[in-house]
Amino acid sequence: MRALTISSHGGLDVLELRDDLPVPELRGPSDVRVRVRAAALNHLDLFMLGGLPGITIKPPWTLASDACGIIDAVGSDVKNLAVGDYVVINPGLSDRTCEYCRDGEQPLCPRFGILGEHFPGTAAEFVVVPAANVRTIPTSIPTDVGAAFTLATLTAWRMVMSRAQVQAGEDVLIWGISGGVALAALQICKQIGARVWAVSGSDEKLERAKALGADVLLNRNQIDVGRAVRERTGKRGVDVVVDNVGQAVWAQSLFALGRRGRLVTCGATTGPLVETDVRRLFWNQWTIMGSTMGNDAEFDAVVAELHAGRLIPPVDSTFPLDDGRAAFERLATGEHFGKVVIRVS
Ligand SMILES: [Zn+2]
Repeated sequence: MRALTISSHGGLDVLELRDDLPVPELRGPSDVRVRVRAAALNHLDLFMLGGLPGITIKPPWTLASDACGIIDAVGSDVKNLAVGDYVVINPGLSDRTCEYCRDGEQPLCPRFGILGEHFPGTAAEFVVVPAANVRTIPTSIPTDVGAAFTLATLTAWRMVMSRAQVQAGEDVLIWGISGGVALAALQICKQIGARVWAVSGSDEKLERAKALGADVLLNRNQIDVGRAVRERTGKRGVDVVVDNVGQAVWAQSLFALGRRGRLVTCGATTGPLVETDVRRLFWNQWTIMGSTMGNDAEFDAVVAELHAGRLIPPVDSTFPLDDGRAAFERLATGEHFGKVVIRVS
């Protein structure tokens, strides 16, 4: 089968389109095989090119976490899915036996792993996953939208709904309003009835965020975001900060955060080490929380939103598998608004 792979780490030049990989077999009776129609890229894929601490790839390593496609084979224990079903994949795999999994908190599993990072990825004609990680979606959903959906929407859902528990009327500051997680967080917050303060370095992206419901637009290249929030809220600050940028914006995030504020982070694209004044943390009674991926119940919840047409991820661009490098280039420029998708078949 064909797949977009790497066999070493480096820049875009390590990307290699292979056409000689074996079609993967089911590993067990509860697995399914999906014929991938489209895969979507996440920032994680750029990190995988360069290599991640603690992650050892087995060449040739297939990239990408997100996909939608058609069920092509099912194991003997699979009851709820059939060959021909149109599906999306939750790329977070867990052992389903540990104490956290039994509590329904699969992302906390000590053996948790992600397709494309710990398991062979989705930028391939076929991928094998546990049936528990697959849900059917309406055939009216375009393949690029289906591919763009899961990782970003699931991550944002857990951050906004389960972790920060954003309420109607609250003010929510969202950094980097062009990435998949930030845009999904914006859409979810607007459904709840929260007020969204969107941050970007591009006025054009901010205008597009406004069209999706952003209430306040902040260009981080023109203003200090923390100070601007304090000024515009009469020093009150926002209730929630949604961050996946990390180091470069941490000080501004905390400056913007009001009393009883919650900061939820799922990433550190600008660096992992941050400084927090503990005196401000306890005096303002902040909650700083981490979040990653989502559990089965959250996966069901976001797929229900997709079925209802309420959460449709913006797609920036779609490239054929033959031109997978161009998709990575587009993501690396940072000029994208929404997801970058690779059409596989
Ligand atoms: Zn587990």
